[in-house]
Amino acid sequence: MFDQLDEQQETQPTADHAHCECYDHEPSTFDRPELWIPIIIIMFASFFFLLGVADHPYGIQLGSLIPYTAFVALGTFSAQRGMQPYFFECSIVQQTMPRLLRRHGGFVAAIVLLETIALYLTRYMPASWLTANGKDGSPFATSLCIICVCVGCVEAFTNRSLLERAHAKTQEDL
Ligand SMILES: [Zn+2]
Repeated sequence: MFDQLDEQQETQPTADHAHCECYDHEPSTFDRPELWIPIIIIMFASFFFLLGVADHPYGIQLGSLIPYTAFVALGTFSAQRGMQPYFFECSIVQQTMPRLLRRHGGFVAAIVLLETIALYLTRYMPASWLTANGKDGSPFATSLCIICVCVGCVEAFTNRSLLERAHAKTQEDL
């Protein structure tokens, strides 16, 4: 009897954020195939694109921006590992979007600058850093990938706190 009461209370939605579809949702990783299926396909396809354009000047920089953008979009909006999902239909998300896009422009510029400097510095690096060993990439390529992923994580996490603050502020204004 008491157990039943407890269960009822637990399953009731909280009053906070009840106006918004983002918070009116049970967080789970793969509940939005319309978001993550295209993004994962884009990420895989762009690796082949990257291989194709790698020999062109600035090919690596331009080619890496597609998987980078897909990675950040997935990190910002999806509900991976029980994190708060953010839906494109939500009016607060739509209002925050221009700010997110401006921020993304800044991060993309930083990534291009970082890769350009790193590629320029390869001429001073020992050959062992640049040659691939086995099926792993070269230490240089692996490090550059890890650094870009870290920058992407920073962008996604700061995007999330921006969205969270925008939701909290709207809640106060009501
Ligand atoms: Zn929302």
